This record gives sequence, structure tokens and C-alpha cells, in this order.
Amino acid sequence: MDQKKLFRSLPSVNDLLNSDKITNLEDTVGSNELKNLVQEVIEDARKSILSGDITDPGEVSIECMYQDLLSKLDDDRVLELQPVINATGVILHTNLGRAKLAESARKAIDSIASNATNLEYDITIGERGDRYKAIGKLVSELTGADDAIVVNNNAAAVMLVLSTFFSNKEIITSRGQLVEIGGSFRVPDIITSTGGILREVGTTNKTHLRDYENAINENTGGFLIVHTSNYKVIGFTETPDSRDLKKLADKYNLPLMNDLGSGLMLDLSEYGLGKEPTIRQELQNCDLVMFSGDKLLGGPQAGVIAGKQEYIDKLKHNQLLRALRVDKMTLAALTATLKIYRDPKKAMTEIPVLNALTVTEDKLKERAENLLSLIKDKTKFNAEIVAGHTVVGGGSFPDVQLPTYLISLESDIPVVKLDKLLKYAKYPLISRVHDESILFDIRTIDDPEFDKIITDLNGIKA
Ligand SMILES: *Cc1c(COP(=O)(O)O)cnc(C)c1O
Repeated sequence: MDQKKLFRSLPSVNDLLNSDKITNLEDTVGSNELKNLVQEVIEDARKSILSGDITDPGEVSIECMYQDLLSKLDDDRVLELQPVINATGVILHTNLGRAKLAESARKAIDSIASNATNLEYDITIGERGDRYKAIGKLVSELTGADDAIVVNNNAAAVMLVLSTFFSNKEIITSRGQLVEIGGSFRVPDIITSTGGILREVGTTNKTHLRDYENAINENTGGFLIVHTSNYKVIGFTETPDSRDLKKLADKYNLPLMNDLGSGLMLDLSEYGLGKEPTIRQELQNCDLVMFSGDKLLGGPQAGVIAGKQEYIDKLKHNQLLRALRVDKMTLAALTATLKIYRDPKKAMTEIPVLNALTVTEDKLKERAENLLSLIKDKTKFNAEIVAGHTVVGGGSFPDVQLPTYLISLESDIPVVKLDKLLKYAKYPLISRVHDESILFDIRTIDDPEFDKIITDLNGIKA
């Protein structure tokens, strides 16, 4: 059929708005938004006619346009920020918001958000106070730092430190540590963007202490250690650690800064998680240590800078801090999370990230069996439990694979289609697709999510 006829058969905005099904949507969608959507589907249809994708007047019927509109509404619904179920097994999934917060942290956000607070008011003197005083004391108690400040994320922490101490100065860093952390954080670029001059030393696999020493000149600002938190170089390797570099830093009176990234507070090696440096260990040698709040620490998105008083004081005087500072809700959640670490045993159970990392295999199996029975009893799906592995994610413990149990869903629906249906379900369910199967990793699913998974599965129509 020619395009003119197709255009003529296209319903008008009013035709659509006055059709029964679309009118019925007005209460939930709102009249303005509904009108926008109607205009969008008509515009889409117009384009499809022009491009030749629509050739049949049936494709521009009111019913077809209504279906298009519903699909747009669905896209808008899933686009909105909302809870999803992380069944991927990646504990610190950056795309899925990294750490889930502990209950006390969630409660702290609620209480601080709904009341006036002493954010910058010091009750002890009845005057304007320091936003970072309380958190500084807490970080100091837990890590041995003199003091600390908190900024938007660890990338901001690194930028603030570099721009405060190393602007127009040479920063000596090992070639083996020129890290890229997913997206736009690349150490060489960050250094350049803050006005520093990268002085890379050593090679990818080997850097010696003498490489650092040979690079020192009158324009050297200091040393930057970057924790290679998201990859490992293995084999014929060598890198001086902070203890070695501390001696050199002292000898030449240069600052030693450490971008620790993952921010591990407690040693987890007894849980099969390998030796990673803890914040406290690194603070024994470094002047400043920077780490993320929402990686292994298990708190909100934030960047913590902890270390020597004179350096923290200088950071507090950098104008940039004002632009990078965190809000009261983040401070509340971070404070509450850190307080749990006063009792390390409690931290292992109450901080969701640590709990997911250290839960026993027996417990995981028991939980997988519970979910499996629910699926078998309450849905039309069949499933089985298979053994598999979880990765930590969030640029942490790159070489660790934790044993886990997976629910493998059986269905006649093709995997790609089923995966999309699960993502568009009432509680968007992000599963792991592997070898033509949909897998749910029990390690990253919480018990209260079991019922939601059942609801999702029951909502699926092939
Ligand atoms: C994750 C990471 C960063 C970036 O931290 P964000 O909190 O994501 O901004 C920087 N450096 C290292 C070494 C990291 O692991």
C-alpha cells in the first residue's frame, strides 16, 4: 500500500486518547504523560511508515498503537531507579549499586533524612562545627589514622589528594599499578587531569625500590601506590610494598599516598579470600590512604581519606572539598556501617557484603534448597541445584572464586526471551545466563527476595 494511504489510516492523538483502553490508563499514568506517550507512538509509527517498516494498515490500528504504548510504559517503568534482585552472584556489582546497606545504616538514613541534624553544628560548644569531626574520630578509632574526611566516592578522594599535594609536581608510580577501574577512572588520566606529572617507574611485572629512588628529583611531589584491586599480575613479579616505600619516603622527606580502592577493614584470609592489605596495615606506613565506602567496606557510595593530621588539615583547606563533599545521609549511613566494625564478629553477619563473602557452604546449600522447593511447589517451573562459583566483583579479590549453589531454571521459553521477561518482571530479576541456562546464584539473593522471585515466575506468560 502506498505511504499516503498509510498516513491517512494513522489514528489522530484524539482518536487514541478517546479510545477506551487508553482512557483507562489516565488514572495511573496522568493525563499529561499519557498525551506525550500517545504523541510518541504516533511519531514512531510515522517514522516506520517512512522507512518502510510498516506496510500494512493493520499495524497502525488503535489496538496496535495501544500495545506500542504499553511497551513504552514498560520501558519507562524498568528504566526508573528501583530495587532489583541480584541473582548474578557478583557480590559487589557496580551496575547493580554495589553494597547493600546494613539495617542500622538504612535506619540511620531514614532518621537523618527526616529530621534537622547537627551536620555542621557542634553541640558541645553551641556553634558552627566541622562536618567531618565525628566521622574522623570514628575512622581514627577503627584504623589508627589521626583523622579522616569523606567525599563523594574514591575517585573524588584520589582527585582531591592529587590536586592538593601534587599539582605541577612529579608523582612516582609503578608501571604495574597504572590501573583502570571500570568506566572512566584511569590512574594516568586522573593524575594528568589534576595537574600532576606522572613519573612511571619499573615495568609491568617488576618494579624495584631503586626504580623509585632513581626517579626522585627536585620536582618530585611524592609516591602514589595504587592497589591493583581488580586484577593480579602473577608469575615473575615484584613491587615494593608500603613498608619498603615508607623508608624511601622518610629518607627523602616525601609523602606516601595509597589508593587502596576496595577498602578492606578486616582480614578475610581465613574465609578463603586471600591476603589483601587492610586499611589499618596500610596506614602504618602511608601518610594518606583512600578507599571506597561501597566496596568491601559494605557502606554507601563514598570515598574516605584517612591518615596523618597535617595532610588531612591541608585537604580540609582545599576549596575543591566543598564540591566533592558528601551529604548528611551518606555520612549517616557510613557512620552506622563503621560502628558495626567495633565488633568484628557482628560485622561478619550484619554487613551484607561481609555476610555474603563469609557465609558457609552448608548455609548456602540449605538456602538454595528452600528456594528450589518454593519454585517447585508454587510455580509451574522446574529447576535444579547445581554447584558453581561466585566472584566478588566491584574490583575486589579478582583472583577469588567462592564456591556457591545455583538454581538452574528449566523452561520451554528460549533463554534470551525468558531472561528479558525476568528483567521486566514486577521485581526485576537479573540472573546469570550461562550455557543456555538461566541461573540464580543463591549467594547474592536474600531470603526476603524468595517470595518476590516466586511472584515474578508466576507472572511470566510464554
Ligand atoms: C574502585 C577503585 C577506585 C574508584 O573508586 P570509586 O569509589 O568507584 O570512585 C579507585 N581506585 C581503586 C584502586 C579502586 O579499586
